[in-house]
Amino acid sequence: MEKLLFGTGGTPHSSKTRSSLDGIKRIAELGLGCMELEFVQGVKIGEGGARLVAEIAAEEGVKLSAHGPYFINLNAHELEKIIASQERILRTARIAYLCGAESIIFHAAYYLGDPPEKTYQVVKKYLAEIMSQLRREKNRVWVRLEVMGKPSEFGTVDEVLNLCAEIEGVGIGMDFAHAHARNGKLNSYSDFITILQKIKQRLGSQALDNMHIHVSGIAYGKKGEIKHLNLKDSDLKYVELLRALKDLNAKGLVICESPSLEKDALLLQKIYHSL
Ligand SMILES: [Zn+2]
Repeated sequence: MEKLLFGTGGTPHSSKTRSSLDGIKRIAELGLGCMELEFVQGVKIGEGGARLVAEIAAEEGVKLSAHGPYFINLNAHELEKIIASQERILRTARIAYLCGAESIIFHAAYYLGDPPEKTYQVVKKYLAEIMSQLRREKNRVWVRLEVMGKPSEFGTVDEVLNLCAEIEGVGIGMDFAHAHARNGKLNSYSDFITILQKIKQRLGSQALDNMHIHVSGIAYGKKGEIKHLNLKDSDLKYVELLRALKDLNAKGLVICESPSLEKDALLLQKIYHSL
């Protein structure tokens, strides 16, 4: 990636219709650079539709990523739920690849009371199977695990980075709002720099050239994330975050997931370019 691009998680609110095609066109009209396709309720787009999405995105100069379904748990205690989760991730990857997306991102697992280390090993095993299958299919999409916002959810920065280091093709979905909400910390310029340095140390400097970032305002409590908020209604230090991203010259996609979507994406982009 040549620079840091800003965009929305899903079709912008001001788009003519809710369709991904109109969403992509609206992103370009707004002067934003990217959009995340939301397959969160299931992958509902077919192969023909995906090819059309790729065509329009290329025409409009909009970069894409895709968010996998919420119904995924690679640490489920029933084998059929694991297999269904793997299938959902594979289907997301296949359609995303046809859409021309460079990354997919999803919520990998819940601990369900298991020790984190045991959960890690289980997630690693089933994720490795997914990656082998994608390699067989010559699908080169980045498979990114999202950093999660609740202590009950698998996906600390360290857990995700360890998986990235162990399995080729696995990347980090660096959700700064989630990282902050998980325990109320990680919310200063030096914290953001520390996280980015850690990514560089563990995965090499090319990881900072190819970041996938989620940002939004966030409400949180003892159990971590409660809900997403607009940036100005939350305590997330987004200007410091943007400064850290700029100072370390991070490149890639910044996907805004605030309720106000494009308004906050434009705000982030404007501040970033003014720094
Ligand atoms: Zn997510």
